[in-house]
Amino acid sequence: MKSNNLKELKTKFPNDILLNEKLSKYSWFNLGGPAEVFFKPKNESELKKFLKICKNFNLKLTIIGAGSNTLIRDKGIKGATIKLGAPFSFCNLVNNEIIEAGAATLDRKVSSFALEKSLTGFEFLSCIPGSIGGAIIMNSGCYNEEISKILISIKTINHSGLEKIYYKEDLDFFYRGTSLPKDEIIISAKLKGSKFSKEKISEKQKNYLNKKKLAQPTGVKTCGSTFKNPENNKAWKLIKESGCQNLNFGDAKISDKHCNFFINEGHASSSDIEKLIKTVQSKVLKEQGIKLDLEIKVIGDSID
Ligand SMILES: Cc1cc2nc3c(=O)[nH]c(=O)nc-3n(C[C@H](O)[C@H](O)[C@H](O)COP(=O)(O)OP(=O)(O)OC[C@H]3O[C@@H](n4cnc5c(N)ncnc54)[C@H](O)[C@@H]3O)c2cc1C
Repeated sequence: MKSNNLKELKTKFPNDILLNEKLSKYSWFNLGGPAEVFFKPKNESELKKFLKICKNFNLKLTIIGAGSNTLIRDKGIKGATIKLGAPFSFCNLVNNEIIEAGAATLDRKVSSFALEKSLTGFEFLSCIPGSIGGAIIMNSGCYNEEISKILISIKTINHSGLEKIYYKEDLDFFYRGTSLPKDEIIISAKLKGSKFSKEKISEKQKNYLNKKKLAQPTGVKTCGSTFKNPENNKAWKLIKESGCQNLNFGDAKISDKHCNFFINEGHASSSDIEKLIKTVQSKVLKEQGIKLDLEIKVIGDSID
């Protein structure tokens, strides 16, 4: 970034910009190099102002949520990295059945809020470790539920600083993705449930959490499922049947409990995880004739 642009950003946003901020603490893998500019807006109007300046400077923008689905490369991220923090984390009851949640609100907090308000439909969010913004981009879900099923609308601000409301009907949602234009930043979402007994909602949440605990590793540095499940197949099964389970590059390993979960056992680098990803992809292709597509997002500057 040009030094005079950097200087102007620092002058205009003295308290909300960090230079060369280590990004490893913002990813569940606990990996990743620095952000050239790291911005945590105080509110929507500050975000709009920042975006308009970035547009003038022609700066590359990257948005991160809770980082539970994102591998950040070792060389870090050039341009500006934006993270919505506490001011964008809230839950409001709009009416009897509709919750408005800020994009930075953790999914499990929305699920707890819904329980408090006796609303069913949000139980699955208790076991997804991301934020509402990330959940919408990924159309996250489990146990035959996904966020698009309860979504009414989202409020966004685009890279030019313009605000917009998208209704669910304006967008396509599919397995781990959406047609929302890439330059839209999600600010908040309205989600709809229905009235139900608190006891039954709580029971359903507990049941989902127990199922997850049994099937997936906990307390490890991972970003969940590395690959999407191919149609009528399971990525973990293909990985296992291709003999990849014991592969590793340094501390980048495959979970014993669920072999679609890749893990940083402590001292891996992002490039170790990427090498593991590429090796597994080519082994599965060779052994099973199936190309595995990434579910996790890999961002940042490539080493090669
Ligand atoms: C242990 C574990 C279990 C998991 N289980 C599941 C599961 O059962 N089901 C499932 O679907 N996923 C699962 N995941 C993956 C992950 O939690 C989800 O994909 C989650 O929704 C990602 O949200 P995030 O906020 O962490 O997004 P991030 O990883 O930070 O970002 C993901 C994408 O969303 C974009 N993004 C984030 N916030 C915004 C915003 N405000 N505006 C625009 N773009 C934004 C980012 O640019 C990026 O492209 C699991 C992960 C872990 C670690």
